Amino acid sequence: FRTMFSYIHPYAILSIVSVLITLIASITAWRQPAPGSRALSLLLLSMAIWSGCYATRWLDISVEAKIFWFRMMFLGVASIPTLFLVFALGFTRNESWLTSRNLILLSLQPVLSLIIQWTNPYHHLLYSSLHVVQNEGLVMMELARGPWYLLNIIYSYAVIGVGIFLMSQAALRSGPLYRYQYRLVLVACLLPWGGNILNEAYFSSFTNLDVAPLTFGVSGVIFAFAVLRTHFMDLIPVARSYLIETMHDGVLVLNVQNRIMDINPAMETFIQGKASSYIGKNAFEVLKPWMEKTGPIQGEKEVRTELKVPLDSSRYLDLRVTPLYDRNHALSGRLLVFRDITERKQVERRLRQVNDKLQGQLIEIGLLQSKLREQAIRDSLTNLFNRRYLEETLDRELSRAARENYPVCVIMIDLDHFKRINDTHGHEAGDLVLKAIAEVLSEQSRRGDFACRYGGEEFVITMPNITMDVAYERAEVLRQSLNLLSVPYEYYNLSVTISMGIACFPESGQTRETILRAADRALYAVKEAGRDHILCYDQLQDL
Ligand code: GH3
Ligand code: MG
Ligand code: MG
Repeated sequence: FRTMFSYIHPYAILSIVSVLITLIASITAWRQPAPGSRALSLLLLSMAIWSGCYATRWLDISVEAKIFWFRMMFLGVASIPTLFLVFALGFTRNESWLTSRNLILLSLQPVLSLIIQWTNPYHHLLYSSLHVVQNEGLVMMELARGPWYLLNIIYSYAVIGVGIFLMSQAALRSGPLYRYQYRLVLVACLLPWGGNILNEAYFSSFTNLDVAPLTFGVSGVIFAFAVLRTHFMDLIPVARSYLIETMHDGVLVLNVQNRIMDINPAMETFIQGKASSYIGKNAFEVLKPWMEKTGPIQGEKEVRTELKVPLDSSRYLDLRVTPLYDRNHALSGRLLVFRDITERKQVERRLRQVNDKLQGQLIEIGLLQSKLREQAIRDSLTNLFNRRYLEETLDRELSRAARENYPVCVIMIDLDHFKRINDTHGHEAGDLVLKAIAEVLSEQSRRGDFACRYGGEEFVITMPNITMDVAYERAEVLRQSLNLLSVPYEYYNLSVTISMGIACFPESGQTRETILRAADRALYAVKEAGRDHILCYDQLQDL
C-alpha cells in the first residue's frame, strides 16, 4: 500500500481494525448494566490502546515518535491483566471480592509497571537494552528483556489464570442458559492470551511481531456479543423466579431422588410451617397425607390428578406433575404445580345439586302428566274409561276393523230402576252400586275389550274381533254375575238387574254413531219388554 505514507504494512491495518472493533465493543459494554460490563469496557479500551500504539510500529514515522508510542502502549499492556480479573469477578457474580482494598492492591502492579517503564533509562529493570535498527525499510526497536519484564509476565499470567479459572468454574456450574455465554467469553479471553504466550515463548521481542493486538479485534466482537446476550439472559431467570415467587399456584421442584429442591411461598397455604423448611425433604414423606398412592409422582409422563388438602379437607387441589429432562433426555427431576380448585368444585357441586333437583322435578312432572292423561280418559267415580275416550277409541277401532276386516261388537248396559235405589237409600248408596258394577265389568273384560261409563248409570263395553253370537254369550254371563251382585249398605244388601242392547260392526252399522244408536235401540226394546234381559239389534229387526 503506497499512499501518503510511503508504505502501510498489513499488520498496521489489522491493528487499526482491532482498534475500531475494540472501541465499539468498549462503548457497547459500557452501556450494558450486565455484571462486570464496566470492567470489560475498560479492558476493551486497554486493548484498543495496545492495538493502536502497536500499529505505529509498522508505520514509516520517526524514531522519536516510535519510542513515544511504544511507551504509550504500555498503558494498555500493564492494565489488561488487572482489568481482566476485575471483569471475571463481576461476570462470575463474585462482586463481593471487589472491595476498595482489593481494587487498590490489584492496581499496584499496573501502576508500578508504568513507573518502571517510564523510568527504565535510569535502571534498565524492564529492558536491559534498546537499539534502533532498519527493518524492511522501517526503523524498528530491538529490545532485551530485563528482570522486571519476567516478573511482570509471571504476575500477569497468574492474574489472568485466576480469572480464567473463575470463568471455567462458573461455566461448569451454570445452567445451559449461561454455559454458552461463559464458553464464548472464555474463547474471547484465551485467544489474545494464547497469542501473547506464543509471542513471549516463540517470537523473540526482536522480530517486532506481537500476535496479541492482532487478536483483539476478534475478542472484541465476541465480548460485545457475549455481554449483550448475557444482559438479555439476565432478565429471563429474574422474571421466572419472580413469577414463581408471586404466583398463587403452589410449586415444588423435586430432584431425581424425589427430594424437594425448591418450593414457592404459595405452597405455605397448603402445608404447615415455613416453605423453606421443606427444602431437602423427601417428597413422598411430605405428600403421604395427600394421596394414597405416590404413583402420579413417579411416572415418566405429565400427570394431572385431584387432591384434598390434608389440613383442610374442604379444599380441593389440582396437581400437575411434569417430569423434567436434561439435555441427554435423562430424567433430572419433577415439577409439581398445585392449583386450588375448591371454588370450581363448589360450583360444580352446586350445579350437580340443582341438576339432580331438576331431574327429580322432571320425573314428578312426567308422573303428573301421565296422571293427568289418565284422568282425562278415566271416569273418577268408577275408574272406567269415560265417554270421550270411548268415542275416540271406537272410531280408531272401527277404521282398523274395516281395514283388516274383522267384526266389532258393542254392548250397551243400563241399570233397571236405578232411580229407586237413589230414592230409597240415597245418592251415596247409588254410587256404591255403580262402583261395584264397574268392578265386575273391568274384571270380566278380556284383552282388547274396553269398558266405559257412558252416562250416569249406563255403560258400554266394546269387544273387537268377536261375532254377535259370542258377544251375546258373554253378555249373558255378565248379566248373570251382575244380578248376583249384592252391595252391603247400612242394614241392606243392594242388588240390581241389568238390561243390555248389542250392536255389531259391520252388520248393525258402519260408524260409531250408527252402532251406538243401534245398541241403544236394542236396549230401549229390552226396557220396553220388561227389563233384565238382552237383545241384539238384528233380533230387533226380526220382531
Ligand atoms: P230404567 O229402568 O227405566 O232405566 O229406570 P231408571 O230409574 O234407571 O231410569 P234412568 O235410566 O233414566 O235412570 C236415571 C237415574 O240414574 C237418574 C239418577 O237418579 C240416577 N243416576 C244417574 N247418575 C247417577 C250417579 O252418578 N249416581 C247416582 N247415585 N245415581 C245416578
Ligand atoms: Mg239410564
Ligand atoms: Mg236405568
